[in-house]
Amino acid sequence: MDLLKKLRSIYPNCKLRIANYFMNIIILGPQGSGKGTQAKMLAEKFGLEHVEMGKLLRDVAKLDSPLGKKVHETINIQGKLVENRVIEEVLDAKLDGLPSEKGIIFDGVPRSESQREYIERKIAQMGRKIESVIDINLPEEETIERLSKRWVCENEHVLIMGKDVKGVNEKCPICGSEIRQRIDDTPERIKTRLDIYHKDTKPVIDYYRGQGILIEIDGRPSIKEVSEDILKKIKRI
Ligand SMILES: [Zn+2]
Repeated sequence: MDLLKKLRSIYPNCKLRIANYFMNIIILGPQGSGKGTQAKMLAEKFGLEHVEMGKLLRDVAKLDSPLGKKVHETINIQGKLVENRVIEEVLDAKLDGLPSEKGIIFDGVPRSESQREYIERKIAQMGRKIESVIDINLPEEETIERLSKRWVCENEHVLIMGKDVKGVNEKCPICGSEIRQRIDDTPERIKTRLDIYHKDTKPVIDYYRGQGILIEIDGRPSIKEVSEDILKKIKRI
């Protein structure tokens, strides 16, 4: 951090740019923990590139290419996790195009030690490092409860059944398109996915705790309260 202090003494009016340059964050947490919403908030607040793995893969799945078809088969038909080689290929394409002064927030990746190693290696090549890792915790029963109410429309608007829409035959209130539940949002699939998530991400969380950059957040309060908690703890680091 001495370098940061030095830069700030030379360019006192350039704080934001300097701070952004050094800000590369990972946000972890099970689906349904509100991690995507919080990642978006942080990306806007600090001008970060939001690297959302699920969205990147869903976009690739729409492409009429061999990779697109393979990803579509895996995520939309089998409801499985995409293999690391594909994750790396998609991330390489995304990260290689990023301006060097723009910070990054990784959302939905790394989900395992091998993905963590890849990201560390990749961003080191870009002259960056991870400064903070936010882990949003949510009890399993609450995650299942939240996710089984989650529906999406053709344009990926996320809708809560019973709140945003009242029945399965309703159209999206935002864009009017058809709504459906994602294939992996049934209680059984959610349970399996959570078990895999906790088993695979535990070493990642342990690693960053060991590095002293893990920020643990309780995901149960409202979106606003969770945001405030994150901002308070990020500033403290
Ligand atoms: Zn919609």
